[in-house]
Order: sequence, then structure tokens, then C-alpha cells
Amino acid sequence: MDYNYLAELLYPNIKTLPEDMEARYPRRELPEGAKVTRFAPSPTGFVHFGGLFPSTVGERLAHQSGGVFYLRIEDTDAKREVEGAAEGLIKTLATYGINFDEGAILDENGNISDHGIYGPYKQSQRAEIYQTYAKQLVREGKAYPCFTTEEELDELAQVNKKEELKNTDWQAEAEAKRAEMLARLEFTIEEVEEHLKAGHPFVLRILALGDPEKKMKFTDLVKGNIDVPENDEDFVLLKSDGIPTYHFAHAVDDHLMGTTHVIRGEEWLPSLPKHIQLFAALGFKLPKYMHIAQIMKLDEQGNKKKLSKRDMGANMDDYTRMGYCPEAVCEYIMTLLNSNYEEWHMQNPDKPYTDFPFNIKKMSTSGCLFDFDKLNDVSKNVISRMDAKAVTDKVTEWALAFDPEFGKLLAADPAFAEKIFAIGRGGKKPRKDLATWADAKPYMGFFYDELFAFEDAIPDNFTKDDIKVTLDKFIATYDASDDMNVWFDKVKAIADELGFASDMKAYKADPSAFKGSVADISMFIRVAVTGKMNAPDLYTVMQILGKDRTIARINAMIATL
Ligand code: GLU
Repeated sequence: MDYNYLAELLYPNIKTLPEDMEARYPRRELPEGAKVTRFAPSPTGFVHFGGLFPSTVGERLAHQSGGVFYLRIEDTDAKREVEGAAEGLIKTLATYGINFDEGAILDENGNISDHGIYGPYKQSQRAEIYQTYAKQLVREGKAYPCFTTEEELDELAQVNKKEELKNTDWQAEAEAKRAEMLARLEFTIEEVEEHLKAGHPFVLRILALGDPEKKMKFTDLVKGNIDVPENDEDFVLLKSDGIPTYHFAHAVDDHLMGTTHVIRGEEWLPSLPKHIQLFAALGFKLPKYMHIAQIMKLDEQGNKKKLSKRDMGANMDDYTRMGYCPEAVCEYIMTLLNSNYEEWHMQNPDKPYTDFPFNIKKMSTSGCLFDFDKLNDVSKNVISRMDAKAVTDKVTEWALAFDPEFGKLLAADPAFAEKIFAIGRGGKKPRKDLATWADAKPYMGFFYDELFAFEDAIPDNFTKDDIKVTLDKFIATYDASDDMNVWFDKVKAIADELGFASDMKAYKADPSAFKGSVADISMFIRVAVTGKMNAPDLYTVMQILGKDRTIARINAMIATL
């Protein structure tokens, strides 16, 4: 068969040759060891936690090595595309410190535009490029048109299925399929001309000559040395509309865009035989591959299962709504990605995670376990290191969006809120009360009269009388200008007067000699002032609340006794 003629018949409008493309997209000139990585999402919905994973790896490896990290939008499946998803994706990634040097970026009007010389970075705009290489494969007899329609293929699959029921001999079945494929190869140029004249659609398939019994040695940078079977599937390169499949687009794009490391989820591992064949057929150097383990979670029974799209914590918008700060999520991702991250972080508590030397060898080869408790721990640490102003701003911003009533209270007097968030902040051992911005309201909402309530009751082993006398005496002696020691001496004096131990050592030595201790006396006052058994330092709370509100609250409690 005259393959050149066939190629002209199939793609008459393609006048470019692979060498034109090679000239249009010159090799990158980068320092030795610089990695070129990309994030290549399909704009089919929200950013999944599992998508932030490979993108973080790509970003780290590129930027750590002085390379390039770019964004390519893989929108070849128009049926699955969701309007606005690509824009949303870029914004979300930026929130998590994933910034691209090149590729599809948002301009000031919120529209996606190309940045860099390897574009267009949207696959739907690269049809001519793919078809140029496809035409070349036809010229070389490595790809062929297939006029069998989707419906016919479906029918064939049904027939094969029925056959399968009768025939459990898989080898015979595989042979039948192969025969069917080969039969399709036996077309004449005249037949192709007739089909084209009749306007029949066709897909372009690769000619697979591999033997799946034969295994190739392959080194995946995450999975290690693996055996990969040769490809024997005549998979589709170009669909009937001339738009490529993922396999073909990935090969052409990663080659032309100079990707050194393809970082993607392990769900792509089974496609590797196809990709190896494709790169070889196209005469491209195979990039390095890293197939990242899937994120797992524990189900109610304690079994590991894949974190699915519907699980809480899968959609990155969930984190925004729940009030997680992106820095904490990024740091948590680092703990999942590199087993030595936590150790490094302990030694370098003040350094940003971007200073950590990310190491491919420390990545888990099996699934990482997603766990909210761990995320909360990381997050509490991250927030405890922020200053009061930053916390105030971030809580206010979050609350205005997700809890406007609270947000308005905070925004009405930022200086007041900042004083509250300053409690226990700064020193060597800062308080770790907040894992999310949503934790702020239960933690400090009591400062606002609008949110204040007697949430906790004083345990009923104390008499109303003792509580009332404590509160009365406290009011009688309270002087807001007292320093903390004088203030506490006054509380101790009340304890002594009421038969409660003011000295904790004495109390511990013989509890039965006392009604309780100064800790209980403080607790009466704390519940009166904060409505809670647990609250930040009471002296400071009163200083911030001011004398009038402190006394008013204590009086309100007395009135209930
Ligand atoms: N578009 C593919 C996906 O969204 C990308 C896989 C890759 O990174 O190569 O899964």
C-alpha cells in the first residue's frame, strides 16, 4: 500500500511536517539537572485533594532544580468538560502555592491566556500539531484509519461478551479479537476513498505489534523497577473529529514542551505499555515517569479505601469552607509526600515548607493515608506560629464569607479581636487552640455579648452559696488595674475565707481537709465571665473585656443562683 497516498487522503489539509513542529518548539535550554514538569488536568470539575498531590510534587521538583513548571489543560473530551472548571482550577491551585511559570494562566479579566512559547497550552487548540504527527505515522505505516463506528464496536464488544460466556478459553477469545483487528487492517485504498467520499467518519489507530507475554524492564521513579508488558492494543490516536486521545496528546505534548518528568496518578500505570510504544513509534525520547500512589482513607470498619470524589476532604473547596488555611494543607501534603518532612520541620520550625529538600526517594510507593486528625495537628501548629494580626485578618475574612454574623462582629472592632487572638501567642510554647478558622467562634466568641451564653454549668458538688459568696467577694475586691499577682492573691484570699485551699500542695496532701481548692474558686469566676469551664487565661480575659462587662457578667450569674 502507498502509505504516503493514504496519509494525503486522510489528512489533506495538513501541510506541516514533524520537522516544522520541532522547529516551532525548540528544545529548552536549561541548566544541567533542571526538571521540566507539568500539571495536566482535564477541566471536568473541582480540584481534588488527589490532584493537589502530583501538582505539589511537580511544582517542588521543578522549582527546586531551577527548572520549569507549566500548566496544560487537557480538554480533549468536550463531553466531560465543565464550564469554568479550568479557571476555577487555576485559582484554587494558586491558593495552595501552586504557581506556574508557563502555560495556561488567568489574565486580569479572569480569562485563560497562554504564557510561554510552547503553546497553545489547551489541547483543544493543538489539533494541527497532533494531526501533523498522526499523518507522519500513517506515512510510515504505523497508524491506520478505522471506519468501524462506535456503535459497531459496541456491537462487537457485545458479541465478544456473549462468546465469553460460552467460551472460557481467553486465549481463543483474544485471538478472535486480534483477527477482527487484522481484518480491519486489510483495506484497500479504493475502500478508503469510497468511505471518505461517502463522508464516513474514521478514527486513527496505532498498529500494535507488541507481544504482551514479553515484559520490558522499566524504572518508575516512585514505583521502582517494574515489568511492563508490550502493547498489543490498536488503540485510538485521533478520534473521528481529529481530536486526540489522552495517550497520543500526552506523547506529542510532553515531547514538544520538553517535559523531563511526567508526574501523574498511578491509575495511569496500566497505560504505560501504550505510551512506551507511542514514544518509540514517534521517535521521541521517553521522559522519566513518576506514578504517584493514590490517597487512601479509613472507612467506618477501619479498612483502607481510596479517597473518592464524594468523600469529605476530597474537594479543595471543602477546605476553604471548613476554614483550613492553605499553608497548613500544604504542609500536611508535605508530611504525606515525604516521610522525613516532619523530622526536618521539627529541626527547622520557622522555615517555610518550600525550603525543605523534597526527595523523590522518600515518597510512599503504596497509598498515603488521609487523616483529618493529623491535618488538624499540623494546622494547629501552623496557626500557632502566626501573629495576632494575621490570625485576626484571616478569621475575619473567612467568617465574613461563611459565618457573616460572626464576621461582622469581628470586623466592627479589629483591634479588640486582635487583643483576643494575641492571648498566649508569641512565646516559645504558643497556645494551639485553632485548627481551622471555624474553631475561632467556639474558642473566643464569648468575648462578644451577642454570642455569650452560660454554656457550661458548675458541677453540682459545690453549693450555690459558696459560688454566690465567691462571686460577691470577687466583685467587691476587683480592681482592673491590679497586676496579675495582686489579682490572683485576691482570688486566693477568697479561697481561704471559704475553706477552699489556696495552696495546691496543701490541698493535694489532704483534699478532705478542704471544700475544694483555689482552682475551683477560679472556675466559678471563669464560668461566670466566659460561660465555659475552659477558656484562655482569665486575668487576661478580664483585661480585654473591661471592668464593666466583667462585673455585669458576674452579676448575671449571681442572679441565676
Ligand atoms: N489529563 C490527565 C488527568 O487529568 C493527566 C494525566 C497526566 O498528568 O499525564 O488525569
